[in-house]
Amino acid sequence: MNINAQDIWAKVLAIVQQRIDPQSFRTWFTPIKPLKIEGLALTIQIPNKFFYEWIEEHYVDVLRQILHTLLGAGAKLEYWIPREMPNPQPVVGGSKYKNYGVSKELEKHYGQTPAREIKNPFAIPGIQKLKIDTRLSNDYTFDTFIEGDCNRLARAAGLAVSRRPGSSAFNPLTIQSDTGMGKTHLAQAIGNAIKANFPNKNVLFISAEYFATQFVEAIKSNTVNEFVGFFAHLDALIVDDIQFLAGKSKTQDTFFGIFNALHQNGKQLVFTCDKPFRELQNIEERLMSRFKWGLSADLQLPSSETRLAIVQQKMERDGIDIPHDVAEYISLAVHSNVRELEGVLISLVAESALNQRSIDIELAHELVSRCVETVSTHISVDFVQRFVADYYKLKPNDLIEKGRSKSIVIARHIAMYLSKTLCEMSFSEIGRSFGGRDHSTVMHACQSVKDSIEKDMVFKHSFDHLYARISQLLSN
Ligand code: ADP
Ligand code: MG
Repeated sequence: MNINAQDIWAKVLAIVQQRIDPQSFRTWFTPIKPLKIEGLALTIQIPNKFFYEWIEEHYVDVLRQILHTLLGAGAKLEYWIPREMPNPQPVVGGSKYKNYGVSKELEKHYGQTPAREIKNPFAIPGIQKLKIDTRLSNDYTFDTFIEGDCNRLARAAGLAVSRRPGSSAFNPLTIQSDTGMGKTHLAQAIGNAIKANFPNKNVLFISAEYFATQFVEAIKSNTVNEFVGFFAHLDALIVDDIQFLAGKSKTQDTFFGIFNALHQNGKQLVFTCDKPFRELQNIEERLMSRFKWGLSADLQLPSSETRLAIVQQKMERDGIDIPHDVAEYISLAVHSNVRELEGVLISLVAESALNQRSIDIELAHELVSRCVETVSTHISVDFVQRFVADYYKLKPNDLIEKGRSKSIVIARHIAMYLSKTLCEMSFSEIGRSFGGRDHSTVMHACQSVKDSIEKDMVFKHSFDHLYARISQLLSN
């Protein structure tokens, strides 16, 4: 077979693209270039060591799996980092997995046994006693799930379930929220905690969508009995996004049967759903009534303080120093959902690594306006002027007119700096809003505020206070 690196990489990308969100894909995969393929080793060029570490940390499993599928079990991935090293050297893949591609564990998992020989879609092939691939990810745990008013009940119920699966009052436990608020994370955390507390219990995490496709496969291959029978081995079944079952009456029938069998035997059921039960349509009444047996707890949008804690935790976990004002600004500006918040953080880290920029308010603002469509546009320069004037006990006109007393000049510079940071405006537009000053005056003002924040501790302290106040106002 004559294969070249470009073709293989294009196939890899096509699959990766289906599995990760578009923003991460753009950020981490578009800068990669395929270089060569020799035997089963594909060499790719990545921008720098940071990228290498990030990819190793986050995507190595996905890449391994895809390459095994495309090239076979001996597939290897090698990285080439061109610029940063004085003498470019290949880094052979796998800080975490030294013998990339030959791990026995992973061969069992993904490799050698042809798919059609796997009778049971969730069993790990080659293992005698039924041992179930839980489909859980280690990243999603209670430790990494920040607590706030927004999720207290659901989190506590999840913990209770993981301490006494099947025998707590919460069976089934259903977690409900809009998208991007942490349902999947919490449901996975419950599964991981059950596994940690009771290593011998069989736990399975699946999306309702995957359940439905596996069910259809079972019908096609005439193995519905095996499919249903498999679930009897479970001690806990976690089904993500049950709204997906809507309108699929055959799948619902089967699911109903599985639910009853597990529930009657004191096994734990956990579901997530992206809307309240009353808005779910095309789900059979008898199944709906089962869903309502246990507890349904919702996740709300985290407050700006909880969002800040989430930002800080994620940055700390990735070993990245983020200045407090930047973390605060991002957690304030991105108030749609947590997934979007993470998206902005990822771009921030990538942008600063790629273009050697420091992580500061300016960069954060740029990315927030690029990644989050509706943000901040409602903050008007007018609002900023009124706020700053009020804060310093001045009249808004003092900031606009020609007054030159030192305290007025400082307040005016701060107001311009905040307008630049918080409103979507160019230097000239800001100049016009401040009594027709020209753009270089505004630029100079912003620079002088920035310098003072960096160099003058006293100034920084009082600026932080003011910034916290305006942040508070904006989040309400
Ligand atoms: P959903 O399933 O509701 O669409 P996810 O569970 O996929 O949302 O969450 C989106 C992202 O936000 C995930 O990366 C998750 O880790 C993160 N996230 C959500 N809530 C929290 C939280 N309370 N603490 C830490 N991370 C969170
Ligand atoms: Mg989800």
